[in-house]
Amino acid sequence: MVDLQTQYKFIKTNVDAGIEQVLNSAQFINGPAVKSFQKNLESYLGVKNVIPCANGTDALQIAMMGLGLKPGDEVITADFTYASTVEVIALLGLTPVLVDVDPITFNINPESIEKAITKKTKAIVPVHLFGQVAQMEKIMQIAKKHGIFIIEDNAQALGANFTYSNGNKVKAGCIGDIGTTSFFPSKNLGCFGDGGAIFTNDDELAHLIRGIANHGMYERYYHDVVGVNSRLDSIQAVVLDEKLKHLDLYNKRRRESALKYSEYFENNQKIITPIILGDGDSHVFHQYTLKIIDSDRNALGAHLSKNNIPFGVYYPVPLHLQKAYQDKKYLEVDFSVTNKLINQVISLPMHSELDNEQIDFISSKVLEFVN
Ligand SMILES: *Cc1c(COP(=O)(O)O)cnc(C)c1O
Repeated sequence: MVDLQTQYKFIKTNVDAGIEQVLNSAQFINGPAVKSFQKNLESYLGVKNVIPCANGTDALQIAMMGLGLKPGDEVITADFTYASTVEVIALLGLTPVLVDVDPITFNINPESIEKAITKKTKAIVPVHLFGQVAQMEKIMQIAKKHGIFIIEDNAQALGANFTYSNGNKVKAGCIGDIGTTSFFPSKNLGCFGDGGAIFTNDDELAHLIRGIANHGMYERYYHDVVGVNSRLDSIQAVVLDEKLKHLDLYNKRRRESALKYSEYFENNQKIITPIILGDGDSHVFHQYTLKIIDSDRNALGAHLSKNNIPFGVYYPVPLHLQKAYQDKKYLEVDFSVTNKLINQVISLPMHSELDNEQIDFISSKVLEFVN
C-alpha cells in the first residue's frame, strides 16, 4: 500500500546525518530537533501553536482533556472512521455519539450532526477521512450556533486546504478549536515510529495542553492538573523535519496518481471513483478509495491478492457495530450510508512513489474483474 523504502532513499543523506547528530548529542527527548520541527510545522500550517506528542490517538485524548470535557459530556463523531476517535472519548468517560457520513465524500454529514445535538453535546470531532477535508464551514456554523467545541482529526489530511465560500483558504486541522494529527509511518507525513501533534491558534489552550502532555506540569515537579506522558522524540523529529520540506510534493504526487487511476475507471458503471470537492487541494489522498457497485468487492480483493496487488478495506465494520462501542441508543436506520459503504469500499495502493507502470498494472487488474 505504501513504499517507504523508496521514499527513504531520496532523503537518506539528510535524515541519516540528522539522526547521527541526535545520537552524538544524546538529547533524545526534547532536543533542538523537536523545537525545530515544531516551528517549521507551525509556519507550514499557518497556525500559532503546534504541540508535538507521542501519537495521533494521544493527540485526540489530550485535546479533549484540554477542553475540560467531563464524564457525561457527549461528543459527536463519524461512524465511519478509524477507532481512535471513539476510543479516547470512551476512555475519558465521555459519551460517544456516532453519526452517519456522506456517501460521496465519506466524511461526517452535517445534517446528521444537527440531529444528534442535545443539551449535553460538548464537542464534535470531524475526521478528514482519506485525505479530504470535511464540510468545515457548515460544521463550524453548527458549532457556533450551539456553543460546541470542534476538534478536527486531521491524521489523514495533513497539507490539505479548506476553501471557505469567500475564497479564504485555511490548512486542514487549523479551522476548529483544536486539530490533531498522527505521524504514523504510512500517513502522508510519517516518521520512523510513532508520533503525533496538536494544533491550536488559542495561546492559553496551547499552554494548558503543553502541560497536560507533560504530566500536568507547568513548573518542574509541580503538577497542577492531571496529565499524561506523551512526547515526540528527537529522532522522529529529525525525520519529520526533513520530510516536511517535501510534503507538498508528496501530496501532489498522490493527487496525480489518484487522477491517473480515475481516468482508467471513469467509464465503468460499477466503479465509483473518489470525488474532490471544491479546489483540487482539498484532498491529499491518504487513501484512494473506490466504491464497487453491483459487483463483489470481496471477490475483487481476492483477485487483486492473486495478482500480488495489496489493497485495503477501510473500514469493514462501522463503529456503532463494533463490540466495544455498541449502544442500544443507535438505530440502524440512522446509519444507512455507513452500513452500505462497508460492503462497497476498497482502497488501492496510494503513496508518493507510485509510478505510471504500477498504476497501469493495478488498474488493468481491477478492470479485468469489474467489467
Ligand atoms: C492514524 C489515525 C489515528 C491515530 O493515529 P496513531 O498515531 O496511530 O495513534 C487517528 N485518527 C485517524 C483518522 C487515523 O487515521
